[in-house]
Amino acid sequence: MGNEKVQTPADIFGKYVFSDAVAKTRLSKATYKSLKKTIELGAPLDATIADEVAAAIKEWAVDLGATHFTHWFLPMTGLTAEKHDSFISPTGDGKVILSFSGKELIKGEPDASSFPSGGLRETAAARGYTAWDTTSPVFVKEGSLYIPTAFFSYTGEILDKKAPLLRANEALDKQARRVLAAFGKDGVKKVTSTVGPEQEYFIVNRDLYNQRLDLILTGRTLFGAQPPKGQELDDQYFGTLRTKVVEFMHDLDKQLWELGITSKTKHNEVAPAQHEIALIFDPANVAVDHNQLVLELLQKIAEQHGLAALIHEKPFAGVNGNGKHINWSLSTDEGENLLDPTDDPGKNPQFVIFLAAVIKAVDEYADLLRLSVASAGNDHRLGANEAPPAIISIFVGEELEGLIGAVEDGKTFTSPDAKTTNLAVTSLPVITEDKTDRNRTSPFAFTGNKFEFRMCGSYANIAGPAFILNTIVAEALSQIADKLEGSKNIEKDALALASEIFKAHKRVIFNGNGYSDEWVAEAEKRGLPNIKNTVLAIKAFLVEKNRAVFEKHGVLVGKEIDSRYEILLENYSKIINIEALTLVDITFRQLVPAAFKYAKTLSDSIASFKAAGVDVKGNVTYLEKVLGLAKSITAKAEALKGATEAAGNLEDNFDSALAYREKVVSAMETLREDIDTLEPIVPADIWPVPVYTDLLFKI
Ligand code: ADP
Ligand code: MG
Repeated sequence: MGNEKVQTPADIFGKYVFSDAVAKTRLSKATYKSLKKTIELGAPLDATIADEVAAAIKEWAVDLGATHFTHWFLPMTGLTAEKHDSFISPTGDGKVILSFSGKELIKGEPDASSFPSGGLRETAAARGYTAWDTTSPVFVKEGSLYIPTAFFSYTGEILDKKAPLLRANEALDKQARRVLAAFGKDGVKKVTSTVGPEQEYFIVNRDLYNQRLDLILTGRTLFGAQPPKGQELDDQYFGTLRTKVVEFMHDLDKQLWELGITSKTKHNEVAPAQHEIALIFDPANVAVDHNQLVLELLQKIAEQHGLAALIHEKPFAGVNGNGKHINWSLSTDEGENLLDPTDDPGKNPQFVIFLAAVIKAVDEYADLLRLSVASAGNDHRLGANEAPPAIISIFVGEELEGLIGAVEDGKTFTSPDAKTTNLAVTSLPVITEDKTDRNRTSPFAFTGNKFEFRMCGSYANIAGPAFILNTIVAEALSQIADKLEGSKNIEKDALALASEIFKAHKRVIFNGNGYSDEWVAEAEKRGLPNIKNTVLAIKAFLVEKNRAVFEKHGVLVGKEIDSRYEILLENYSKIINIEALTLVDITFRQLVPAAFKYAKTLSDSIASFKAAGVDVKGNVTYLEKVLGLAKSITAKAEALKGATEAAGNLEDNFDSALAYREKVVSAMETLREDIDTLEPIVPADIWPVPVYTDLLFKI
């Protein structure tokens, strides 16, 4: 009967974050006020208070056990980067004191030469800078003070995923406020995009994971025959969590809460061993940092529990892959959600115009949105029959469809009364139905008071989709503001403009089954792009209208766009190159030897059966099958090696990436077919790696 108090999530939440509440207790009143204003307006930290803020942060961090600080940033690798400096400063008498200046808090100077820059920065000019983004709070983790920063070059070009998002947020804020001002709401100080990601992942046994070089080096299985049981019974989705997984998730939640991350929902996903974690939404840039921390902690904590978290988009063929739904909306500093239709959207022209802005943006820049979710891993999902198709369309649901139709025709729209569902069991409540059902097949779905962008891959840094979405919506809002500013009858003019927009862009609205072949044909008729793979998607960076929208809103300049184009292509080629080399390596060093080992056993037994006068015809056929596959696997692995070398030798980045996509990926696929035919006929004790059944079911 211990009487220690149970630690609730409320007790530990934000324990390691220098939050507003902490700042209030650690700073003088004047400094606290100044810092708060800085954060609310997204302004740079005032140099006169920087030293006091830094000293307070250092003391707080040291109290929590921190010895180092690091400027934490999001380079174009898509991962996070950190370099740790300790707080120590020698005093000359053989002792040290702990110090941390305002300058060290605000700005860092990491050597930038080893991060991808797409030709933006020569190695000779290696200097890079990191600058604290005050809107994302500092935190303590593993003995270091983490300062979320943006990363840019000596000459001011951005080199990371954070800075374009911060710039796009500013553009969106500015344009949304212009539109609100036209509605008489000029008191709004800030419009923020809010983002809530739902993250999918697999959990497998660590010992088994460690036996698969492909999982270790590429994050996915490059081969593996289908297990006798997959996801066909639908018995995993929302199923009871396994004890080991519960323990891991509990630890994960606890550490996330301590870091001020609002882990909210967890459940089993569709595929065996697949799970999901969803956070409560945050301002977009904070959501980005939090999602990166989720990805990092998923992997670290899984390892501590003897497990491995797989966050690749397609760890296993034949069962569902991992996505990351991005819930997205716009809200004002006064707490108004601009995508909330309210009870009577027919009488809410402001909502109608923001809805129109999103529809216009998504239709006009569908190719950029497609690019924002393009990756080697996600190529396995988009367009396959489990994830949204590669075609961008919007699901609006019944109510908004009615609203849009009415606005188009200049008619008044009255919301249907909310229906109730009576389950005809006295002990069950009568339920008011939501106004929209769910459509799981739409890539961009309206879900009540937000949109859910469902195409993003599980591994992606969500800064990419967020900055593109925010830029294109800023552009639509800016065109709308140009027309509505100074309107004498805003309600009437807004609805008339919305009517024009709906007429011009309704082709992008589709409420049916996005997985069907009919939709692919129909979308083509409507002229909607269907961009089938990453290499083709990257070309959107070359399209004039896309470059213009980034430049107009100060999100990316020409050189920065070019650098991103090169980085994405190179990155794609490198990933496929690694996959191909890994498959060749495993084939020659593990799989072919296993085939020969088995063939030897077979031929030995054939010899002794024969000596005993037994009919060995069947055994010989079996032996021939194994040897035939070994031979074909060897030839295909050689061909894969050749295709990989040829693709790598192409000078031009685009040609090279396209060769990887067209030649190398298919060479990997045909090699895999033979391997997957061999695996089920080789005895378990000879096959050198764990098979799908082991990975998916033995946890
Ligand atoms: P659904 O049932 O449609 O999946 P949930 O309420 O479960 O909706 O929310 C799913 C995700 O959407 C959560 O991460 C949640 O925080 C996020 N979300 C809810 N409202 C917003 C909003 N206004 N902006 C961005 N994300 C939101
Ligand atoms: Mg959802």
